[in-house]
Amino acid sequence: MSGEVAPLRQRLLDWFARQRRDLPWRATTDPYRLWVAETLAQQTQAARAAAYYERFIERFPTLEALAAADLSEALKQWEGLGYYQRARRLHEAARRIRAERGGTLPRAAAEWRTLPGVGDYTAAAIASMAFGEPVAAIDGNVRRVLSRLSATEIGDSLARQSAVVGARAQALVAGARPGDVNQALMELGATVCRPRRPRCGACPLGDACEARRAGLTAVYPLRPPRKARPIRPFACLLVHWGDQRLVVRRTATRLLGGLWEFPTIACREGEGERAAAERGLRDLGLTARRMEPGPSLTQSFTHFRQTLQTFLVEVAAPGDPASVEARWATRARLEALPLTQVARRLAARDGLCAAGDPPA
Ligand code: SF4
Repeated sequence: MSGEVAPLRQRLLDWFARQRRDLPWRATTDPYRLWVAETLAQQTQAARAAAYYERFIERFPTLEALAAADLSEALKQWEGLGYYQRARRLHEAARRIRAERGGTLPRAAAEWRTLPGVGDYTAAAIASMAFGEPVAAIDGNVRRVLSRLSATEIGDSLARQSAVVGARAQALVAGARPGDVNQALMELGATVCRPRRPRCGACPLGDACEARRAGLTAVYPLRPPRKARPIRPFACLLVHWGDQRLVVRRTATRLLGGLWEFPTIACREGEGERAAAERGLRDLGLTARRMEPGPSLTQSFTHFRQTLQTFLVEVAAPGDPASVEARWATRARLEALPLTQVARRLAARDGLCAAGDPPA
């Protein structure tokens, strides 16, 4: 990165004042609201996060309101957004702040980092925006901007990229308005220095950018080689009893814990989907009058891809499903439960509830 830090900082701030998007959390310095916004915006596009933010803050306007609510209420507000662990940890951290700090939110980034679900980036973002602490918040957008600016110095070393980006970011926030500098870098990455086809002509840092000068914007940021994700087969039971469907709640410690889904059974080594479905039905203490294959779908998670073969099942009697976390649900009940994304897709297919996005 060529050029002095202070002029670059000023150009960033001037650009941000002119070009920043009107997002609902931009108007606040309330640390609770910024925390909610930063948590929602992880792995989520800003416009989508904004819709959830308005809803979440309306339902839980304060830390006290969130801490007093059941986890299932928090999950319901999160439904459709994915990465539910974020909601669980936000709720857990709110309760911890109430119990251990009498409801007083932390100020320093180092204190924020001690809370569940709050990593370096989120801690720095909140501390800089709410309290003006000069600490760099480095997300994927910031890493992209600064790695391109400093391309020559980084070369082809991932470790060097990490060190250079960290040092550059810290130099930029060590001056006036660190919270705005952090936001400006994120905004630049999100709207101008995009992963593909960056709009270098509109960039306030364009004349200092080494990747642009060398025609290497596609090379940076450097990434570790990708590992192939394993594919795991599952059977999914769409069990009817009259106009009701059987749903089960995932245990809190599992991926997507606390959400409801149609009974989903992981196939064992060498076991076909039908055999897994029959085993799942037996485990639920139910007998099928009719069982036939339904639609199949796939779902990607961070560490694996799930293939899901559904089975449409009619039972002879509702029985008393063996699992305490299983229940029969009418259409209205399904609408009210926090469902996994796959369950919502399947229910929407059958006209049982609205598709993926947040309910109004
Ligand atoms: S000049 Fe282009 S590549 Fe460089 S920081 Fe700006 S948008 Fe990104």
